[in-house]
Amino acid sequence: MPAPAETRVVVVANQKGGVGKTTTAVNLAAGLAMGGLNVLVVDLDPQGNASTALGIEHQQGTKGTYEVLIDGNDIADLVVESPEAPHLKVLPATVDLAGAEIELVSVVARENKLKRALRAYLAEHPTDYVLLDCPPSLGLLTLNALVAAGEVLIPIQCEYYALEGVSQLITTIELVTGELNDALRVSTVLLTMYDGRTRLSSQVADEVRSYFTEQTLPSVIPRSVRISEAPSYGQTVLTYHPDSAGAVSYLEAAREIARRGAKENA
Ligand code: ADP
Ligand code: MG
Repeated sequence: MPAPAETRVVVVANQKGGVGKTTTAVNLAAGLAMGGLNVLVVDLDPQGNASTALGIEHQQGTKGTYEVLIDGNDIADLVVESPEAPHLKVLPATVDLAGAEIELVSVVARENKLKRALRAYLAEHPTDYVLLDCPPSLGLLTLNALVAAGEVLIPIQCEYYALEGVSQLITTIELVTGELNDALRVSTVLLTMYDGRTRLSSQVADEVRSYFTEQTLPSVIPRSVRISEAPSYGQTVLTYHPDSAGAVSYLEAAREIARRGAKENA
């Protein structure tokens, strides 16, 4: 896959829980890495689901995102190689990260912690894509991600009220753009859990495409048992069942993201 001219830092955001943020972050990360690109995933969710899905240990005591945000540790010292693909690194999260949401409140420049740590890391470690997996809330962890990123990728579940949550996210992004990060923009929208048998899925897809015409990727992620099973084996669907429709669609989405990224910067 073509590399971008500069590192693309992409925050996978949607404050609704269970819409496929983590699933999207890990499978796209694996797809980009399998495409030969250097990828870093930063797990910003205390549940550590992204760490799990990428086969990374993250029991309490494992150092990761918490130590970077609160103790000022270097990302380089704490990243772990994922067994899922070559060139795929992960900054893991543990339950300790839940405390960071509160501890950060009293920290100076609290919303810039991740941005600074990432800048220092990227200066020494050439990386094509950084994917930030956020918790389902718009607290200081998500805010740190929105400040550190250049672009937002919004996974939208093909369900009722899909766009309602998104309008709240757009309001937040506009606030961040005005105050903290001028460069931030919604670059990519990915439709997930698409069920071709229901009219609802195609209606939501049409609505999303008319709202995010440029940003919505042509590939749509189907609802698939293989996708939801993969994390329990510490795997992405790309290695768990590479020939499944879910794996094929995530790989296709990764390829399209890389293609667009290379073209935009050309
Ligand atoms: P979020 O990070 O937004 O909370 P997750 O990625 O954890 O969402 O997904 C929520 C649940 O839905 C998980 O159990 C996950 O395995 C499942 N899931 C995600 N995408 C799909 C899909 N395309 N098909 C079936 N299940 C999915
Ligand atoms: Mg998640």
